[in-house]
Amino acid sequence: MIRVVRSCWCFPSTLPGLAVAVLNPLFGGTTAAHTGVVESHGGLAAWLLRHATLLRGGALAITLGEVVLGRTAAALDLTRAHERVHVAQARRWGPLFYPAYGLATVAAWRRGACPYRGNRFEVEAHAAA
Ligand SMILES: [Zn+2]
Repeated sequence: MIRVVRSCWCFPSTLPGLAVAVLNPLFGGTTAAHTGVVESHGGLAAWLLRHATLLRGGALAITLGEVVLGRTAAALDLTRAHERVHVAQARRWGPLFYPAYGLATVAAWRRGACPYRGNRFEVEAHAAA
């Protein structure tokens, strides 16, 4: 029961990732569950990670609620510990996760830190990984 409530709480964060995960097999990608999280790699997920992130050169993986998108299966393996921290954060913050993440990015930039590495959510994820 708690698991269902938690998934509903973070569903607004999960929805965009779930849309990509559901469509990804149509674009040659793979979607599967791994330790209670939906993971999707290759195909559309890989294209988005190469072209639609703010990070220079794209990203290996990204967490969208309870969904993790990766460029490849190896990228998912490599980033799993880091991305699981983001899944836990999304579950904790629910629909407030993206606004809170954005504010943490601005806060890092305002204090002169790297907007990505200085973001408190990234600090927590990098520390755990
Ligand atoms: Zn991260």
